[in-house]
Amino acid sequence: MAVYSKILLAVDLSEESDQLIEKTRTIAQNNHAELTVLHVIEPLSFAYGGDVPMDLTTVQDQLDEHARIKLSAFAEKLNYPVESQQVITGHTESEIHRMAEDKECDLIIVGSHGRHGLALLLGSTANSVLHGAPCDVLAVRVYEPET
Ligand code: AMP
Repeated sequence: MAVYSKILLAVDLSEESDQLIEKTRTIAQNNHAELTVLHVIEPLSFAYGGDVPMDLTTVQDQLDEHARIKLSAFAEKLNYPVESQQVITGHTESEIHRMAEDKECDLIIVGSHGRHGLALLLGSTANSVLHGAPCDVLAVRVYEPET
């Protein structure tokens, strides 16, 4: 029985994103689900408090282009037909929620470091996505690559 028909996979495009591939593919295959893959770029102006005395448009465009290339390479590795690849500029959690709503997704998949203590208090993307999500959220435990 298909439980999920539209899945949103959110990736930060770090090496750890690869750890989401196998479970996402298996769930998508088992449900014959439509898969959207999303990467959110936080605007440079956010990082500098919106108070930068220069035009960051060109740099932002380059970041966007770089992210599109990386996301496309990531989508290839999924080895499952990706319905839609999205690179969006904005606030990560809000854009994940917005995309899930726009695409009428019934499952969001994100990575989770299983942080505890102070790191947990400071928050994680998985936690923030869970709060206010319009559908189920699967937080797949990821591990930091050994150095
Ligand atoms: P974090 O708690 O920020 O280390 O991120 C955990 C998970 O949140 C990642 O594995 C992704 O699934 C998701 N995530 C974090 N940042 C982004 C981003 N910029 N775009 C899309 N998903 C993200």
